[in-house]
Amino acid sequence: MQSARPIPPLPAPVRPDPVRDRWAAPMRLAIAEAALAPATGDVPVGALVLGPDGGIIGRGHNVREAVGDPTGHAEVVAVREAARRVGEWRLSGCTLVVTLEPCTMCAGAIVLSRIDRVVYGALDEKAGAAGSLFDVMRDRRLNHRPEVIPGVLAEECGAQLRAFFDTQR
Ligand SMILES: [Zn+2]
Repeated sequence: MQSARPIPPLPAPVRPDPVRDRWAAPMRLAIAEAALAPATGDVPVGALVLGPDGGIIGRGHNVREAVGDPTGHAEVVAVREAARRVGEWRLSGCTLVVTLEPCTMCAGAIVLSRIDRVVYGALDEKAGAAGSLFDVMRDRRLNHRPEVIPGVLAEECGAQLRAFFDTQR
């Protein structure tokens, strides 16, 4: 009998994630969109709306400081652009990709727009309304509940926000 020698643990492999991996490419585009926000002193959050065929029909970054609008969140900007392009308010079949967990206002706007899927990056433990503080979009009392996919490139999304807040100190 061979003596059982302890085998050192291997580094954790990067496991494929069939739910999240397909959203990494659009999330990288949302991160690039977010990078436009700090030019006006805005927090780097970026969002895209993808049409049913996967093409980009709306994009936005935070413009609260840029235009002095408390509702100028990335998701609202992107949803408005998508609705303009589609020609109606209903965005059935669309997916919203955003670098930070939506707040209560944006979660409400997403429900009202009938978007089918929300993909987000970093958790917002202080104000998130997609599982952290509230779970507006999966509240069974509402008549429209999009699929929610959290944590896509969460590290990158979180690092972008931390880098911004570090420069604000
Ligand atoms: Zn918001």
